Amino acid sequence: EYNTFKDAVELFRKSKNILILTGAGVSVACGIPDFRSKNGIYARLHKDFPELPDPSSMFDIDFFKKNPAPFYNFAREIFPGQFTPSLSHMFIKFLEESGKLLRNYTQNIDTLEKIAGIQKVIECHGSFSKSTCLSCKNEVDSEEIREDVLAQKISYCKKCKTGVMKPNIVFFGEDLGDDFHEQISEDIDKVDLLVVIGSSLKVQPVALIPFNIDPDVPQILINRELLPHYQSDIKLLGNCDDIILALSMAIGGEIKDE
Ligand code: NAD
Repeated sequence: EYNTFKDAVELFRKSKNILILTGAGVSVACGIPDFRSKNGIYARLHKDFPELPDPSSMFDIDFFKKNPAPFYNFAREIFPGQFTPSLSHMFIKFLEESGKLLRNYTQNIDTLEKIAGIQKVIECHGSFSKSTCLSCKNEVDSEEIREDVLAQKISYCKKCKTGVMKPNIVFFGEDLGDDFHEQISEDIDKVDLLVVIGSSLKVQPVALIPFNIDPDVPQILINRELLPHYQSDIKLLGNCDDIILALSMAIGGEIKDE
C-alpha cells in the first residue's frame, strides 16, 4: 500500500527501471497548450473551425488529406524552435543521468525531450522534426516548412510542387512506428516503477501501457486532475512542475548515491 508523497519519494529512491509516460501537461509550462483542458487547443478549434466534425479531426489523416487548413492554422503553436524544456523534462533527464530511467514514452510531438537531452525517449506519436510530402513522399527537415507554418499557410512540396507536406507526427488513423511496438514489448517486463505525468490517457495504444504492466509494479500519477478510468497507487495532484520540484528536493542528491 502506497499513498503518500513520502511513499513516492521512497519509490523514486529505490527504483532502478523507471518508465515515465508523459503527455501534453509537461509542456504547458513551456507555453504549449494541451488538447483537452478548458483552455486547450480543442476548445479553441471548436470556436475557430465550426466546420470540423469534431476538434480531433484536425489530426485525422483522412480529414487532413481533404482539408489541411485547420492543421496549418494551429501548427505554429507547437512548432519547435520557440520553446525550452520545463522542470518536468529536466527531471526526466536527471533520472536518466542517475541511471534510473528505463524509458520516457512521450505522446508529445514538440521535441522538448530531445532538447532537454533525454536519450532514452520514444516519441510515440512522432515529432515535428521531419516532414513528408503526401504525394511524392519526399522527406525533408521541417526547417523547410517553418516559414509556411509560422505564416499559417499550407505548406506544399518544393520537389513535386503539388503535394501537401505533412510533419512526421502520427495522426488518428495512422500506425505508431515500429520503434514504439518493439521497445515497449522489451521494456514492459523490466519496469519497476511507472509514472504518468500530464496526460489524460485517452489516446490508445499509449494509454494502455499502465494497464499492461505487472499489477505488482507501483504506479504514480502526477497530473492536474484525477483520471476516472485510471487508478494509480499514488496520485499527486497539481501543477506537475511544482510537484516535481518538491519531489526532487525530497529525493535530493541521494538519488545518485545508491
Ligand atoms: P491531453 O490534453 O489529453 O491531457 C493533458 C493532461 O495534462 C490533462 O489531464 C490535464 O489536466 C493535464 N495537465 C495540463 N497542464 C498540466 C500541468 N501544468 N501539470 C499537470 N498536469 C497538467 O494531452 P495528452 O494526454 O498528451 O493527449 C494526447 C495527445 O495530445 C497526444 O497525441 C499528443 O500528440 C497531443 N499533444 C501534444 C502536445 C505537445 O507536443 N506539447 C500538445 C497538445 C497535444
